[in-house]
Amino acid sequence: MINKIRLINTFKKLVRIDSLSYHEGRVMAFIKKELRSLGLKPYEAGKPKEGHAANLVVDLPGRRPRIILNAHVDTVTPGKNIKPVQRGNKIFSDGATVLGADDKTGVAVILEILRVLKKRKKPHPSLRVIFTVAEEIGLVGARALPKKLLSADFGITLDHGEINRIINKAPAQVNLMATITGRAAHAGIHPERGINAIKVASVAIANMKFGRIDKETTSNIGVIKGGKATNIVPDKVEIRGEARSHDPAKLWAQIKQMQKVLSRTSSKYKAKLKIRTTKIYGSFEVHKRQKVVKLVLAAVKRAGFKPQLIPTGGGSDANILNAAGIPTLNMGVGMHRVHTKQEFADISEMVRGAEIVLDIITECAK
Ligand SMILES: [Zn+2]
Repeated sequence: MINKIRLINTFKKLVRIDSLSYHEGRVMAFIKKELRSLGLKPYEAGKPKEGHAANLVVDLPGRRPRIILNAHVDTVTPGKNIKPVQRGNKIFSDGATVLGADDKTGVAVILEILRVLKKRKKPHPSLRVIFTVAEEIGLVGARALPKKLLSADFGITLDHGEINRIINKAPAQVNLMATITGRAAHAGIHPERGINAIKVASVAIANMKFGRIDKETTSNIGVIKGGKATNIVPDKVEIRGEARSHDPAKLWAQIKQMQKVLSRTSSKYKAKLKIRTTKIYGSFEVHKRQKVVKLVLAAVKRAGFKPQLIPTGGGSDANILNAAGIPTLNMGVGMHRVHTKQEFADISEMVRGAEIVLDIITECAK
C-alpha cells in the first residue's frame, strides 16, 4: 500500500534540495541514498556536457513486460531555497519561488512505489527507473541517455497534473537563434554611418507571425539582446525563438516564415544575418490500440476516474522515449500551475497517482 505520510515527507525533502537544471548533484545524491537503502543498485547514465550531474538509472529485474518509469529531477527558476508550506490538502512554496512539484511529485511517487515493491517481495514486471537531469532546458538529460538503455515494452513518464488526463500526443520543437549584425557609429556625430541592429530586429519581429499559429502549431520569440549605450548605434542583436507543432510540415513552414522575414528585413537595411535552427525533439502520438494505453486507461477507470487521452503543447522526456521506439504516456501526479510561484502539489492526487501506477505494475505481474 502507498504510504501517504512517507510519500509527502519524501516530496518535501526533495523540494528542499536545490536542483536547478545542470545543478542536480545534491538531489541525485539524496535519491541514490534512498535507492541504496532499499537494497537497489542505481547507476549513472549519460551526463550532459555542461551539467554537474548525470542521469540516474536503477533496474529491478522481473518478468515481462519490461516497463520504464521516468521523472526528471531538475526544476525551473526561481527555484533556490524552496520552502514547502502545507495548507490543507495542498503543498505550496512560501511564495518566493516555484515549488518544484514539476517534477518532484513524479520523483517522490516513483520512490514510494519502489519502497512498496521491495517490501511486498512479490513477483513484479521488469522495471527500469530513469531519473533525468536538465529536462527543463530542452530534454538535455534524456537526450544524453545511452541508446542501449532505451529498450522496454512501454514507458510511463510522470510529469504533469490531473490524473484522469493522460498525455498520448506531444508536438515537435525547433529552436531558432538569429544574430543581426549592423554597423556601430557615434549616435550624435555620425548616426548616418551606422546600421542600427535593434531597428532591423524590431522591424523583422513586427512583421513576423508568432503566438498561436493554428490548433496544432505555436511559436514564440522569447529572448532579444543587444545594444551597449544610448550614444552608440547598436551593431549587434541576438534573437531567440521557437516553434512547436504536432505536424512536422507545419513546424518547418513556421520556422521558414521566421527565417524569411529576418533575411528580407536584414537585406533591406544592409545588415548581416546569421541563423541557426536546432531540432530539440520530435513529436509523438501513442495510438489508442497500444497495450500501454489499454493498461493505463483501465487502471485510471478502476481508481474511479473517467480517463481521457489528451494532446499537450509541451515537450517531456516522453518525447525522447517515444522517439526511441518505446510507446510512452505522460501521466498526472498532482502538480499544478507549474513554472509559477503559485505552483502547488495536490496531496490526494499524488497519492492516487502513485496507487494507479502501482496498480498498473501489479496488473502486469498477473
Ligand atoms: Zn516537468
